[in-house]
Amino acid sequence: MSISEKPTAPIERAPDGRSRRPILQGPGRLVVYMGLVLLTALFLFGMAFAMTEFSAMDLLTFVAFVAGAAICVEGSRRLGVPTPAGFNRDLLGAWWFPVVLLLPPLYSLIIPIPVYLLLQQRTRQTLVHRRVFTAASVGLSSFLVSVTWYSVWSGSLVGGLRGDAEAVEALASGPGVVVALLCCAGFTVLNTLIVAGAARISNPSRHGMRPLWDREAVTVDCVELCVGVTIAILAHLSLYLLVIAVPPVLLLQRSLLYQQLQMAVRTDPKTGLLNAPTWEQEASVEIARARSTRGRAAVLIVDIDHFKRVNDTHGHLFGDQVLLGVATTIAQQLRQSDLLGRFGGEEFVVLLPGSDTGEAWQAAERLRSQVGSMEITVDNVPVSVTISVGVAVVGEHGNDLVELLTAADLALYRAKETGRNRVCMPAGRTAPEGRIPGSRSGGEVDPPSGS
Ligand code: GH3
Ligand code: MG
Ligand code: MG
Repeated sequence: MSISEKPTAPIERAPDGRSRRPILQGPGRLVVYMGLVLLTALFLFGMAFAMTEFSAMDLLTFVAFVAGAAICVEGSRRLGVPTPAGFNRDLLGAWWFPVVLLLPPLYSLIIPIPVYLLLQQRTRQTLVHRRVFTAASVGLSSFLVSVTWYSVWSGSLVGGLRGDAEAVEALASGPGVVVALLCCAGFTVLNTLIVAGAARISNPSRHGMRPLWDREAVTVDCVELCVGVTIAILAHLSLYLLVIAVPPVLLLQRSLLYQQLQMAVRTDPKTGLLNAPTWEQEASVEIARARSTRGRAAVLIVDIDHFKRVNDTHGHLFGDQVLLGVATTIAQQLRQSDLLGRFGGEEFVVLLPGSDTGEAWQAAERLRSQVGSMEITVDNVPVSVTISVGVAVVGEHGNDLVELLTAADLALYRAKETGRNRVCMPAGRTAPEGRIPGSRSGGEVDPPSGS
C-alpha cells in the first residue's frame, strides 16, 4: 500500500506580511524530517547495492512487477485522482509486496522510483518534494520489512540484507504465508506512520484530517495485503501467471478509485464536509421523513463573524485554516446522525434530526461557545473567531427545506444585526414574549421556552 498525503500545512508569514508555502520556505522541522527519510533511504541503497548479487532472473522479475504496477496506473488514471483532506489509499502495495518477498531487499528500495515517476507524469502532478518523500517512505518501509522477511528465514541480518534465495521457498508453506502477511502488514504500519509523521509536523492540530485508520482504510489495507501476497505466490510459481493477476488487481484499483472519487464529489475539498448540493439533497430527505412521521428536525445556519477581517489581517491561506478549524470544531460537537455541510464561503449548515426547539437551541449554543473558545495560532499569536447561528424548526418555522433555510437565514440576519456571536430564531411563537429571539454569552436574551 502507499498513501498519498494531502497535508494542510500551517502558513508561515514572511516579514513583509505575505504568506509563504511550506517546504524549502516552510517549517524547518518538516524539511529536516523529509530529508532524514530520504538520506536514510539513500544510505541503505548504497549498503544494499554493495551486498546484492545481481541476476538476470531477478532483473526480469523486477521489470515484470514494475510493468504490473504501470498497467494499473495507466488503466485507472483516466478516472482521475481524488483529493480528500487526509490520507488517500491505493492498491499499489499489491506490487510492492511481491518485490519485498521474492527479490533481494535492494529492489524494494528502488521499485517506487519508476512507479512514482510514472504517477507524476501520467496522473495529476503533485509537488515534487511530496512525491519524492512518498517514494522514499515506501522504499524505506518495504526495504526494512524485506530485510526482516529474509532475516527470519536465513537466521542472520547479513542473509537478510542479501536476500538469501532459500527464503523464497518458504512462501509455499503455511507458516511462510503467515510470516509474509505479518511482514507486509508491518510495511503498511511503518509507511503509514512515516507519512503521518510528516503530516503531523506539517499540520500539528490535524484539523479536518481523516484518521490514519478507519474501518474503510483497514479494509483496503487487508485487501491489499491479501492481493500482494497472492501475487507473490503466483509469481513464485511462474512469472507467466502475472498475466492473469493483473486484470483483477486493475479492477480492484479502479473500483477503489471510483469509490474515493464518488466521496470527493460529495464533499467540500477545503473542509472535508458535505458540499452544498449533497447536504441539500440529504437534508430534504430527512425533513420529508420528519414531516411524514410527525417527527422533529431543525436546521441551523452558521456564519463566521467578521471573517473578511481574518482574511484581511492574516491572509487568505490562514483564513482557510480557520475555516477548517471551525468545521472540525462544529463536527466534533454533533451526533453521528446530524448532517453537517459547508453551504458556501464561511457559512455552514446543520440538520438536527429528531431535535425540537429546545434541543436545537442548546445545540446551536454549544456550537457557538465551542467555536468561540477555539484558538488557532498564527506567528505564535492566537486568533479566535465567533459565529452567529440562525435556527429554524420543522413545523414551527417551515415545512420543507426551502422554508426552513429561509427562516434560519432570516434569524441569522437578525443575529448579525443585533451584535453577532449569538443564536437567533425567527421572530414568532418560539421566543419568549416581548424579547428579541436570540441569545449570546452573558445571557442578554433568554432561550426559547422548552430549552
Ligand atoms: P459577517 O460577520 O457580517 O458575516 O462578516 P463577514 O466578514 O464574515 O462577511 P462577508 O460576507 O463580508 O465576508 C465573507 C468573507 O469570507 C469574504 C470572503 O473573502 C471570505 N471567504 C469566503 N470563502 C472563503 C474561503 O474559502 N477561504 C477564505 N479564506 N475566505 C473565504
Ligand atoms: Mg461571516
Ligand atoms: Mg456569510
